[in-house]
Amino acid sequence: MLSRKGLDNATLSSLKEAEMSAANVVEINNTANELRAALSRMQRAYSLTPAPTRQQRIDRLDRLHAAIIEYKDRLIDAVDQDFDGRAGAETLMIELLPVLEGIRYNKKNLAKWMRPSKRHTPLMLLGAKAKVHYQPLGVIGIVVPWNFPIFLGLSPLVGALAAGNRAMIKTSEFAPKTGELLAEMLSKHFSDDEVVVVNGGVEVATEFTKLPFDHLVFTGSTQVGRIVMHAAADNLTPVTLELGGKSPAIVHDSFPIDEAAKRIAFGKGLNAGQVCVSPDYIMVPRAKVDAFVAAFVKAFTRHYPSLQTNPDYTSIITERQRDRLLDTLRDAEQNGATVVTINPTKETFDGTRKLPMHVITNVSEDMRVMTEEIFGPLLPVVPYDTLDDAIAFVNDRDRPLALYYFDWDKGRAEKILQETHSGGVCINEVMTHTMVDDMPFGGVGPSGMGHYHGKEGFLNFSKAKAVVRKGWFDGNALIGAPWGNRAFNLFIKFQLRRFRKA
Ligand code: NAD
Repeated sequence: MLSRKGLDNATLSSLKEAEMSAANVVEINNTANELRAALSRMQRAYSLTPAPTRQQRIDRLDRLHAAIIEYKDRLIDAVDQDFDGRAGAETLMIELLPVLEGIRYNKKNLAKWMRPSKRHTPLMLLGAKAKVHYQPLGVIGIVVPWNFPIFLGLSPLVGALAAGNRAMIKTSEFAPKTGELLAEMLSKHFSDDEVVVVNGGVEVATEFTKLPFDHLVFTGSTQVGRIVMHAAADNLTPVTLELGGKSPAIVHDSFPIDEAAKRIAFGKGLNAGQVCVSPDYIMVPRAKVDAFVAAFVKAFTRHYPSLQTNPDYTSIITERQRDRLLDTLRDAEQNGATVVTINPTKETFDGTRKLPMHVITNVSEDMRVMTEEIFGPLLPVVPYDTLDDAIAFVNDRDRPLALYYFDWDKGRAEKILQETHSGGVCINEVMTHTMVDDMPFGGVGPSGMGHYHGKEGFLNFSKAKAVVRKGWFDGNALIGAPWGNRAFNLFIKFQLRRFRKA
């Protein structure tokens, strides 16, 4: 240690800073070493049992099921604490039940998915058989955001385990109680070379995403997704990126506006709008904006007649997120938007993390509420004149994670499906496509890449290995070089005749 005698204040403080950052580097290095050691341990274990049987996979899924059942109440409580108010019913309905559903679905289909699939062989391979084998990749890294801190960790885990892998899960620093409990729960039901939970902040996440996983699933913002993909590229680790964006809902002129508002209010209220597939903005025919706002206020009030002490209405996860939402709202107001605050019992919200729903009209395209993902209880309503205008508006923006369309007419719905891009679509409904295990879930473009859930999850976490098996007959021996032999000439003549026409 250097002597500090005779040093001025500025030098002393820069010395202190240097010491602090040195301590930090040591800590980060320790974390990096620990993470690498954990991954090596898991990779060694994988290499000892590289092909878990269906029964072994089912045993892991059963253990996960048992863990959830055992910890159900404590998990609900931990999420409630992290949010400082989240309805147990929501945690049960949107986090725990879908994981249990996913486990059951994977178990039911595992035998079928694991079976090598027979493929067609070309004439050239006469007598040979071609099959695709689905092989576990090894160790999967899973990075989790705070908004569904259980589901978004355990749902990819279900797919990873079903496909015969091991997994390391990095939880969100903004849901620390849930992270700690998941660590306790999974270490009780899994060995430390099967499933590992890593808790910590951005520094830990940064080191985590630098690990040479066999596949990395990142769920979070588009901005961090870019950083994560860069880190994974250094190891050529394939990534599944489950990102965010602005998911629009379009209501057709012919669809009853009250019904649309009612269906949208149900979805937008969940987790106070802090959902990746929450409707971000609503497009309604110009003449129906006021009717939509009135119907939405009515429907929302029916779900949440009060807010501040209402345990059904979720708080904003952190003060920083609340302030971001309030800044976004202020920006809209200052630039001429009209705001309707849904606050039925006229409560005050100063300094709390509960934030009422705000419906915002007269928005312009450059307001933050229209340029940034909202991820909270703000709902801009955008008028449109023709359906083609609405489609063009959506297509002028980043491809969203979800798109919702309200119309009984199947032909027009088909037009929307064909002329817009999004990760998924609900027609006359919002958000529930994420709950169907028999469908892939994932974004497109800036809202993500790759899929999981159900069979697509199994495929995502498996290597589809092409295997050709040759029998006793070896056609190559007949037609091989020296080229121009009789068998070769006959073979080529026959082939060219087959392909005379397209
Ligand atoms: P975030 O991107 O800030 O953080 C997500 C995770 O990344 C956290 O675990 C965090 O520790 C880690 N992280 C942060 N900085 C990192 C870095 N530099 N390198 C590596 N890892 C880093 O996202 P968030 O605020 O937790 O979640 C909100 C976002 O997630 C929204 O954009 C939302 O749309 C999106 N989201 C998407 C889905 C989906 O399935 N597509 C689901 C939920 C949330």
